Amino acid sequence: LLDGIFCVGCGAQIQTNAKNELGYTPMSALKKGLETDEVYCQRCFRLRHYNEIQPVSLTDDDFRRLLGQIADTKALIVYVVDIFDFTGSLIPGLHRFVGDNPVLLVGNKADVMPKSLKRTKLTNWMRQQANINGIRPIDVTLVSAKKGHSVADLMSKIDNYRQNRDVYVVGVTNVGKSTLINAIINSQTGIHNLITTSRFPGTTLDKIEIPFNDGAKLIDTPGIIHQDQMAHYLGAKELKYVSPQKEVKPIVYQLNEQQTLFMGGLARFDFIQGDKSSFVLYFENNLMLHRTKLEKADTFYLKHAGTLLVPPTSEAMEQFPELQRHEFRTREKSDVVINGLGWITVPANVTIAGWAPKGVSVIIRTAMI
Ligand code: GDP
Repeated sequence: LLDGIFCVGCGAQIQTNAKNELGYTPMSALKKGLETDEVYCQRCFRLRHYNEIQPVSLTDDDFRRLLGQIADTKALIVYVVDIFDFTGSLIPGLHRFVGDNPVLLVGNKADVMPKSLKRTKLTNWMRQQANINGIRPIDVTLVSAKKGHSVADLMSKIDNYRQNRDVYVVGVTNVGKSTLINAIINSQTGIHNLITTSRFPGTTLDKIEIPFNDGAKLIDTPGIIHQDQMAHYLGAKELKYVSPQKEVKPIVYQLNEQQTLFMGGLARFDFIQGDKSSFVLYFENNLMLHRTKLEKADTFYLKHAGTLLVPPTSEAMEQFPELQRHEFRTREKSDVVINGLGWITVPANVTIAGWAPKGVSVIIRTAMI
């Protein structure tokens, strides 16, 4: 029925089912639009009327196709990551799509990182992690899109590096890319005026374009959805225990070998072998942590997940995947990352295991802090 209807803004095919996907329009708006022969998707409608970008996501294949176009273009790539969920922010194969284009790496959500952590240490760490993933950024910068911190700085860096080229903003869903674009639109850079004076900025399928005054454009690309995010297994209420809204306060545990920590019922950490030492936990401040003996941990989880160990709630527990065990031996101070949830900093020369719901990855990396 909607086959022949396209958004006059971005050209996406109009649909009324999937809110976060391209071309979504609420039925009521669609009816109104059809009366005047001007159907906008919700994203373009909001951009047009409120200068506000809404997040939209693409499947992996569509996203790759989109990135493929970037490789053939001369452009500055602004790669936005969630600094608290760096692993979950990685775009597989990005380095191939980038080609020779310069990459400006932007760590968003800097406001949730502990204030005690030196910002240069953080940017150095980000650079190192990017290198491991085949990306050599020309610069690394930290912002808080939500608080508007350092957005002006970012804009002057963008202006400096783009040299009349277009700018592509890329990132996986949930890193705060839309919030950042909105902050950019609302920052004192002149873009605000441009966007309201240009008749309508979105002109191509699947991208939103914001003009600079030299004719180049800042292009917001849809986010890619990572399937192994913890967020996929949680309801709206439980999500607040996963995505920190405020500065994360690290929690230190002195652990002996053969001890276990539970992060609610969502994840588990075993200290299997090594000298008694400090382990530092970086999780959302309200996520409940519980210490027990390793030998009792399995039965403890079976008995208490969904009741003492929450989230998940007991109802959610029925659908919640089993925890899977990932064992590591460290050679240097490392972070054990539960993808999308947080991490535990562990000393050198210990054997540990991280447990996460089946489908959510657990990785080990050089300690961030
Ligand atoms: P997108 O999918 O990448 O476009 O992400 P959104 O802009 O929709 O943001 C995803 C979530 O992260 C929302 O709950 C935002 O409020 C939150 N968020 C975005 N930027 C920041 C930030 O700078 N700090 C914090 N603490 N949260 C942020």
